[in-house]
Amino acid sequence: MVIIPPMTASSESIEMLKRLVAFDTTSRNSNLALIDWVRDYLADLGVESQTVYSEDGAKANLYATIGPDDKPGVMLSGHTDVVPVDGQEWDTDPFEIVEKDGRLYGRGTCDMKGFGAVVLALAPEFKRRNLKTPIHLAFSYDEEVGCIGVRRLIDEVQRMDVRPAACIVGEPTEMKVIRAHKGKSSFVCEVRGFECHSSLAHTGVNAVEYGAAVVARLREMAKARRDNGPFDDGYMPPYTTIHTGLMNGGTALNIVPKDCSFEFEWRYLPDDDPAAILKEIQTYVDEELVPEMQAIHPDTGITITEMSDIAGFDTPEDADVTTLAKALAQVNDTSKVSFGTEAGLFNNADIPTIICGPGSIDQAHKPNEFVSLDQLAACEAFLKRLMDRVAKG
Ligand SMILES: [Zn+2]
Repeated sequence: MVIIPPMTASSESIEMLKRLVAFDTTSRNSNLALIDWVRDYLADLGVESQTVYSEDGAKANLYATIGPDDKPGVMLSGHTDVVPVDGQEWDTDPFEIVEKDGRLYGRGTCDMKGFGAVVLALAPEFKRRNLKTPIHLAFSYDEEVGCIGVRRLIDEVQRMDVRPAACIVGEPTEMKVIRAHKGKSSFVCEVRGFECHSSLAHTGVNAVEYGAAVVARLREMAKARRDNGPFDDGYMPPYTTIHTGLMNGGTALNIVPKDCSFEFEWRYLPDDDPAAILKEIQTYVDEELVPEMQAIHPDTGITITEMSDIAGFDTPEDADVTTLAKALAQVNDTSKVSFGTEAGLFNNADIPTIICGPGSIDQAHKPNEFVSLDQLAACEAFLKRLMDRVAKG
């Protein structure tokens, strides 16, 4: 009888994860200490890195190639920033890894320094193997605040002579192969009304009420999509969702409010057209609400401003990158998810992309976030299979 020992991660991966988690790279902070450390670590292995800085120089993406630099290879990609721990009840220090019951606890262990740690821990072996096909490492900043940082990196990569042939984004999927996710657009709506005493409400323009009218219309649009589609059963829920998440307005009950603002988003199926959704609400605002407001007072209006857009993506089941990822993960099927990642941006830059990484999205962004040692071990096995392939050709 063969006894298969439980899978556990290498000490190199665990040590690397400890190191990465210790850098407090909450999105509002600089990530340069982490990036500099990674650059030095790779330099010691003889691997040169390229850094692509944010406009103010406070943050950076890192891009490096191991293996031949004149051939397209497989890009392993992840973000270095993490969500805040503010207001969360942690049992341990979020920036110091604690191992307990086969799990490593700490901010970013799952989303998504676990993947980065395994990649970096295996970098010396990738280097030693004299790869025939290169791997590219891509580490970004400001993913958690709208996939901001990676856009500059993608611009840079698109200018390179050799561009990656495929991309694996290591967001937490429990090492399942995800080949599609919804897109997400977010907006702020500002309503400018006209203030007056509430006893003379008919002479004012009530910004809160007009704001509410827009929210109500968004809700109708959401219901229409829920009831009439388009549908894709690969997603939960299988339709585009529209939602208002935050609203402010007014100063006192006896004043007709002059200001109201709120934020809303849609998470759309890759086949749905986000521009058409925006046009629908914008037309309602421009043709029905604003004329009504301006008939009472000309200096009123409604402005909708996009805050972020994260593209969806839908890599075909029979694409080379899907086949590769299924072989590396030793799975026969793929799935789709509703959360957004940088994958859509890579995909839009004509780099075929899938998502596969250790840990579960259920643990992401929460207090006592963790990644299990067997998930890290599964990620190691995945990357070692990749190593065997790219070493051969
Ligand atoms: Zn993430």
